[in-house]
Amino acid sequence: MQKREASVQKHNYITKIHQMWQTGALPRTAGYHQISVYHDDDCGIFSGKRCGCDPEVKLRFSLHGHAN
Ligand SMILES: [Zn+2]
Repeated sequence: MQKREASVQKHNYITKIHQMWQTGALPRTAGYHQISVYHDDDCGIFSGKRCGCDPEVKLRFSLHGHAN
C-alpha cells in the first residue's frame, strides 16, 4: 500500500477551533470537552476532501479533569 501526502491546507474547522481556543471561546482547562462541528451541506468534508466552508463549532459539554 502506498502512502500519500495529505492536502497541505488545513481544514477550515481545524483553524476555527484553534482560533476559538485562542480567543477563549473554548475552555482551555484540562479535561474532556465534547465539541460538535456543523458543516455546510456542500462542504468537501462529506466527500473526503478539505473542509472549505465556514463551520459552526459548538461546545456540547465539558468534563473537568483533575486539578493537578
Ligand atoms: Zn466544512
